[in-house]
Amino acid sequence: MDFLRPLTWQDALAAKAARPGAVPIQGGTDVMVEINFGSAARRPEALLDLNPVRELAGHEELPDGTLRVGAGVPYVRLIAELGDRLPGLAQASRTVGSPQIRNRGTAGGNLGAASPAGDCHPPLLACGAVVEAESAARGTRLIPAADFYTGVKRNALEPDELIRAIRIAPASGPQYFAKIGTRNAMVIAVCSFAIALHPRERRVGTGIGSAAPTPLRATAAEEYLSTELDWEGRGPLPDAVARRFGEFVREAAAPIDDVRGTAGYRRHALAVLARRTLTWAWNDHRAARKEVS
Ligand SMILES: Cc1cc2nc3c(=O)[nH]c(=O)nc-3n(C[C@H](O)[C@H](O)[C@H](O)COP(=O)(O)OP(=O)(O)OC[C@H]3O[C@@H](n4cnc5c(N)ncnc54)[C@H](O)[C@@H]3O)c2cc1C
Repeated sequence: MDFLRPLTWQDALAAKAARPGAVPIQGGTDVMVEINFGSAARRPEALLDLNPVRELAGHEELPDGTLRVGAGVPYVRLIAELGDRLPGLAQASRTVGSPQIRNRGTAGGNLGAASPAGDCHPPLLACGAVVEAESAARGTRLIPAADFYTGVKRNALEPDELIRAIRIAPASGPQYFAKIGTRNAMVIAVCSFAIALHPRERRVGTGIGSAAPTPLRATAAEEYLSTELDWEGRGPLPDAVARRFGEFVREAAAPIDDVRGTAGYRRHALAVLARRTLTWAWNDHRAARKEVS
């Protein structure tokens, strides 16, 4: 197996163009597991090590205020440096693996792996994040998170493309992520859910994880809630609204029975997570409204 080690982003793109079969490696917390447990026939012809590429390791604010987070920023830095502006993604990052995994693992790698159970996906969907992909031949391509996941562990990247960054607007309202596992840490989600309130636009974002072949939004739930909420925050969240929202989320899922849980349990749990995270978000929203009035 060849080991390619470009030092710059342009060289990384050129290497991927020349060797589309080369597998990018960032933190390696998915790639190395695959290689170590996979059969010899599944060993890649080459690994493309992106760790030396400095362009992937930073984050910046674009002129319109959007954050551009390099694909190689590890979870520990997402939490420490961006947790105030990207609270949903930071909450999800805190639930990934162990400290060792969070030191090495990245949201870029989570997107590359595109597991339906990946923890970054629900908050990226709820926040309307955009994946910045790039190739030497065609330049930059912006792919909305909702279009990025194309199947189980499959994504929209072309063989010569790499993920450069994630573009995501800083939170303009409360965001929450909740995950159910078979224990409290080092666990793949049985199911997960993220919500983001966007009060300025009177809009709600959602993301469901580990309950369909791909991560997905609950669009009917979003539409229902966007019109039902009293965005002035004048009262507590009506029980009926929370319940109906949970039902919409449950209906959006398409889970399977597997070793981690049954489809029926996942649907039930998602409705609970949806009601719970909505209640937390709504209470924060009301508190914030009271402060400004
Ligand atoms: C013990 C353990 C616990 C874990 N727990 C969790 C968990 O709780 N939640 C969770 O979601 N995941 C978990 N994971 C999986 C893994 O840690 C995450 O998916 C992590 O985000 C992968 O990031 P990475 O940088 O290590 O990716 P890598 O392993 O380097 O790469 C992952 C995939 O992305 C591709 N890739 C990487 N960078 C790029 C790029 N710039 N452009 C294009 N493709 C790219 C790679 O080719 C590969 O297909 C766990 C893994 C282990 C070993």
